[in-house]
Amino acid sequence: MSSRPDGIVIAIDGPSGAGKSTIARLLAERLGYIQIDTGAMYRAAAFLLARAGVNLDDPAAVEHFCSNIDIRLDSVSGRQSVCANGLDVTDQIRTPEMSLLTSRISKLKPVRKALLKSQQRMGSRGGVVLEGRDIGTVVFPDAEMKFYLSASVDERARRRFEELTCKGEAVTLAGTIADVTERDRQDSERDIAPLRQADDAIPIDSSHLSIGEVLTRMVTMCRNKMESMESSL
Ligand code: C5P
Repeated sequence: MSSRPDGIVIAIDGPSGAGKSTIARLLAERLGYIQIDTGAMYRAAAFLLARAGVNLDDPAAVEHFCSNIDIRLDSVSGRQSVCANGLDVTDQIRTPEMSLLTSRISKLKPVRKALLKSQQRMGSRGGVVLEGRDIGTVVFPDAEMKFYLSASVDERARRRFEELTCKGEAVTLAGTIADVTERDRQDSERDIAPLRQADDAIPIDSSHLSIGEVLTRMVTMCRNKMESMESSL
């Protein structure tokens, strides 16, 4: 089948709030694959940088700090946990403030360099679903399957607003629309590894699709790909 021992690499890129995490988790469950949420890794890095008070305008300080960070993703009973330098940061990294800070630090070269290496190491054996912004373009340009999942700004902000209010966060819909728009701008205008659809990615607009519909499409396409790779052997 694939030249990777554990299966194919599936990349899911797209803007925030398009449903990547939910879909990546369900797709990984269906295929018996491992999910790698690269956004959570950038969030954990942002958390550590902020906690240590590293001056983000000092590239040498950021580089030194990033060479010593250790971020681990784990899945216990279907719940993803994120450990940063031995600390469980699963919940702390999901606040609106941390989202914006993450978008700021993720354009720094030393941060991307450190995380790129560990993402490539984690996915190199295949059998993985990686989600993020630059998986199909930079992390695994040779991924066997690439999806670009998007939705309108209003729909993505509405979903994020519901998610945050359910968690008891004091947010407004207008504020969430502004945050999502700002994150889109920061993620797509940065110089290194900007949010961009890979030329060979399959675009899916989830604005008017249920999670089940998106999942069914992706599972079918992934299985077809695996079958065609097997039969070409
Ligand atoms: O996916 P999530 O919204 O959790 O990602 C948080 C932030 O991490 C994004 O807004 C983006 O700035 C950054 N990120 C990135 N590259 C990735 C994944 C996330 O720059 N592959």
